[in-house]
Amino acid sequence: MSNITYNPQSARAEEFIHDGEIRATLEYAKEHRNDSVLIDEILKKAAEGKGISHREAAVLIEVESRDIEERIFHIARQIKERIYGNRIVMFAPLYLSNYCINGCVYCPYHAKNRTIPRRKLTQEEIRREVIALQDMGHKRLALETGEHPLHNPIEYVLESIDTIYSIHHKNGAIRRVNVNIAATTVENYTRLKDAGIGTYILFEETYDRAAYERLHPTGPKSDWAYHTEAMDRAMEGGIDDVGIGALFGLSNYRYDLVGILMHAEHLEARFGVGPHTISVPRIRPADDIDPKDFPDAVTDEVFRRIVAVLRLAVPYTGMIVSTRESQRSRELVLDVGVSQLSGGSRTSVGGYAEGIEDAEESAQFDISDNRTLDDIVGWLLELGYMPSFCTACYREGRTGDRFMSLAKRGLIGNCCAPNALMTLAEYLEDYASPRVKLLGKKMIAEQTPIIPSEKVRAITERNLQEIINGKRDFRF
Ligand code: SF4
Ligand code: SF4
Repeated sequence: MSNITYNPQSARAEEFIHDGEIRATLEYAKEHRNDSVLIDEILKKAAEGKGISHREAAVLIEVESRDIEERIFHIARQIKERIYGNRIVMFAPLYLSNYCINGCVYCPYHAKNRTIPRRKLTQEEIRREVIALQDMGHKRLALETGEHPLHNPIEYVLESIDTIYSIHHKNGAIRRVNVNIAATTVENYTRLKDAGIGTYILFEETYDRAAYERLHPTGPKSDWAYHTEAMDRAMEGGIDDVGIGALFGLSNYRYDLVGILMHAEHLEARFGVGPHTISVPRIRPADDIDPKDFPDAVTDEVFRRIVAVLRLAVPYTGMIVSTRESQRSRELVLDVGVSQLSGGSRTSVGGYAEGIEDAEESAQFDISDNRTLDDIVGWLLELGYMPSFCTACYREGRTGDRFMSLAKRGLIGNCCAPNALMTLAEYLEDYASPRVKLLGKKMIAEQTPIIPSEKVRAITERNLQEIINGKRDFRF
């Protein structure tokens, strides 16, 4: 390894996720965790909203002072407010199949688990799942499948995407399908792009190669370099919105935080555009999986710091937490950086529709937040957040560097705010309970007059009225 040098522009995983650079960064962070002059400089830079480097972020994750931690949270809140306002984009996962040939030791779908029922949805079952999701009010899905060349080939995923986009039940429609499938070839990424996916999502799980190889002993996923270079192939295949993440708790969280940021810096250096989203899942109990086997599990407090530091480091990258997190821990991270939430989720194959066989037993992990989407929307509104069902950007061609250029110039909010209002209004008309409808109407009445552009405000007001009159799918 010693003759491999750190190079963020390299196409080789061991050069852009360079173990030596990460270890040197962690040492540097330890040495400087009480260096108030340096920390002050980093915080000033972060407050400008232009991001901080992986080394600077590593220092902030190490600081021990509570006062400085409060400053980190404060700046994270300011950045979030400036870029994302009070909007939280909603989505749901849809599990297509839990057949998997990999041996990931933290996942109940690992090939050797004989206790979990194996299920793969037929196209008819997908239809039923999608109708159930539409009837909840969802517009944005994240597709999930295990890796299995016979059960879940790319053709199955592509056919499923087609099925999902084709279903229009009452006023429902899935307008954006993000896809989380195993690392694949450039050619397959192009096929996914052509099928009209939103973001391609793939978690690194852990960036620490030695730990990664221990945790992935068998199957194609055990090839760390192939997995780590997946986003490069996705971008070469034409997908310009990619979502990265680490499964916090698998390994040293400091290492993984630095790894995520080096991955983001690499994509920016090589392709001119960083990741569209970063996900921050944490290890959870599940069939055949006991979190006690993972001594690196992170506490709620550390988790909050991780989210806040990521917000400072990559202000324009969406940040996602799932229903793995409890209501309490979601509340802790919402105000310091999270911009997307899943709601009303099922992590089982066939978990949304009634009567799909073995659905409940096929879950990937236990959910901590079991509330319905309506409950979550109401809860967000009560906390002062505006749930958004917006899917406008990729449908308007605002992806990759076109999106980032708008985001970095602070212009994307001009689209996000009215789109959030209009998609929330659709939700209220079509799916909300009377209580949530009341809360939502109040939010819309408060937020519409403060849209800064007079022209955008006038169009939004007109469209909001049209939505009440029964029209749908307006967007900026
Ligand atoms: Fe398969 Fe993914 Fe689970 Fe690994 S994490 S066993 S690849 S489904
Ligand atoms: Fe996301 Fe674009 Fe909608 Fe904003 S306008 S919420 S960035 S899809």
